[in-house]
Amino acid sequence: MKIDFSALEEEVQRILDTPEYDDHPARDALGRLWEMNLNQWNRVERITRLSDSYQDMMMKREKSLSARFDRHLRQLEKITRISDHYQRVLKQVNSELEQTALIDPLTELPNRRMMMKRLSTEFERDERDKVYCVAMVDVDHFKLVNDEYGHQVGDDVLVALGKAMPAVIAQEGYIGRWGGEEFLVLLPGKSRQQAQQLMEAMRLAIAELELDFDGKRLTTSVSIGLSEHRQGDTIDSLLTRADDALYAAKSLGRNQVTVD
Ligand code: GH3
Ligand code: MG
Ligand code: MG
Repeated sequence: MKIDFSALEEEVQRILDTPEYDDHPARDALGRLWEMNLNQWNRVERITRLSDSYQDMMMKREKSLSARFDRHLRQLEKITRISDHYQRVLKQVNSELEQTALIDPLTELPNRRMMMKRLSTEFERDERDKVYCVAMVDVDHFKLVNDEYGHQVGDDVLVALGKAMPAVIAQEGYIGRWGGEEFLVLLPGKSRQQAQQLMEAMRLAIAELELDFDGKRLTTSVSIGLSEHRQGDTIDSLLTRADDALYAAKSLGRNQVTVD
């Protein structure tokens, strides 16, 4: 059976408000029961209010937490983007730095460091049946060029040689500036005869090169010391033989290729 509480409430209230029932034996007990009932309702109401406001507070808290979480997430994404960008820039700067550290700024040829790297790579390969030559190239009487035409023309001659010599070597090997007016040629896979032919062609090309700087015409020549890799060679021993051969080429009158 369904109880109609508001009808019951009205009925009880009416009985309690009726003076004729004041002396009824159940009047007092009903009054106290009624009061208890009211108190109970008040308590239920208070608890409901408390629970509502607690839920409300929890929702607000959750909202603010999720807003804060979103904010942190956005900040994190921003930082990640910045860090990615920073890393890309750093990589670029590093590779540019590495580039400049390996390239001679005047001739734009590989510098001594880079040539040493290439030599080391070549030396790390399997020793058996290794065919390999190096050539040390030195400009003849270069001091005279500086003395006669000035240091700037001297630089221009080095730049011109730095273009003319690689043009002869092409894909047959590598050339780099070893220092001052010296260049180093690496000729992997070239026998002594092949290397000698190639160096002779390079020597001739330079000797026939007519340079013209602001109307100042000049010619130059190079001396070349060639050495072929031998079993048990180190980078040092191979380069020392090339140097000795170069010294011999100078002693024999310059503008020539000598093999050690
Ligand atoms: P040799 O035929 O015996 O090699 O005679 P050389 O005059 O070429 O040799 P030496 O070693 O006496 O002189 C080399 C000169 O090269 C001296 C130096 O001032 C010059 N030189 C070295 N590097 C540069 C450079 O970058 N620019 C210019 N303009 N001159 C340089
Ligand atoms: Mg020299
Ligand atoms: Mg010289």
